[in-house]
Amino acid sequence: MAEIIDGKQIAEDVVAKVKGLTADLTAKGHAAPGLAVVIVGEDPASQVYVASKSKKAKECGFHSVQHTLPADTQEADLLKLIASLNADPAIDGILVQLPLPGHIDSGKVIQTIAPEKDVDGFHFVNVGKLGTGELETAFVPCTPAGSMILIERVRGKDLSGLNAVVVGRSNIVGKPMANLLLAANCTVTIAHSRTKDLPALARTADILVAAVGRPEMVKGDWVKPGATVIDVGINRIPAPEKGEGKSRLVGDVAFEEAAKNAGAITPVPGGVGPMTIALLMANTVVSAYLKAGLKRPA
Ligand code: NDP
Repeated sequence: MAEIIDGKQIAEDVVAKVKGLTADLTAKGHAAPGLAVVIVGEDPASQVYVASKSKKAKECGFHSVQHTLPADTQEADLLKLIASLNADPAIDGILVQLPLPGHIDSGKVIQTIAPEKDVDGFHFVNVGKLGTGELETAFVPCTPAGSMILIERVRGKDLSGLNAVVVGRSNIVGKPMANLLLAANCTVTIAHSRTKDLPALARTADILVAAVGRPEMVKGDWVKPGATVIDVGINRIPAPEKGEGKSRLVGDVAFEEAAKNAGAITPVPGGVGPMTIALLMANTVVSAYLKAGLKRPA
């Protein structure tokens, strides 16, 4: 049976480190890191995410600001708000919760965030830095950055020569994940909906990352014995066994089956999910250090 990777505990370790870095920064006379979270509209899932990000920011000792805008907010007004946050010296990180209402161009909004405050790592400057291996100054998207920490906890820092297969090629998870693994000297294959014989490809992976959005798609016999399996997927499926109308969360990996073959595996929930928010805090404290002219904390 595989080792179950405790993302909750590892995320707590990251947050504890962020708290320590924040205390050190303020002890040196600098302002606490500032994180601005912007949400447009009333999507209930987004409201929950934003509330937990703001709460975690406060817990870390940050200056935490939340801007809640109505669903009919004009794009120009949102861009104006971002420009003012870009110019605000008390703000080190700006996060715009996605998805935005359909009448707003998300791409334009993201590219308006100053790259040095882009703690989500979605601005072209940060995407380019990750792609070219400029990891010292890049902000890396939180979910793949968090997944990388989980992988290193299991495999150690030296991943040289390991075969990694990333299933999914989104800009927010699959592609940056592949770039991080490549930067760590893995041999990386990115799979997607057009990939042929995905089970056979997956079986070549020492590190298998699933970021697809399809409940329990990755079966146990897709997993090479001893592989490290990182399940990024978060899917809500009906759970009639819990009562009528009830649901439960599952990942993109059929956990029970996969755990029989894997060396280590993340659960859903409690794996990658908690890391995402912890890495947002880590990126924000890094931004504050860089602004203060201090060395980037490791
Ligand atoms: P996207 O929908 O943007 O991307 C999904 C990817 O999966 C695409 O590249 C798609 O291929 C590929 N895909 C779809 N079907 C198949 C298939 N049958 N076989 C192989 N590949 C397939 O999703 P995201 O990357 O945004 O998210 C992926 C999952 O991760 C979701 O469940 C999401 O909820 C979760 N997530 C979790 C986070 C966390 O904090 N834990 C954060 C972000 C996301 P193609 O490009 O060809 O269409």
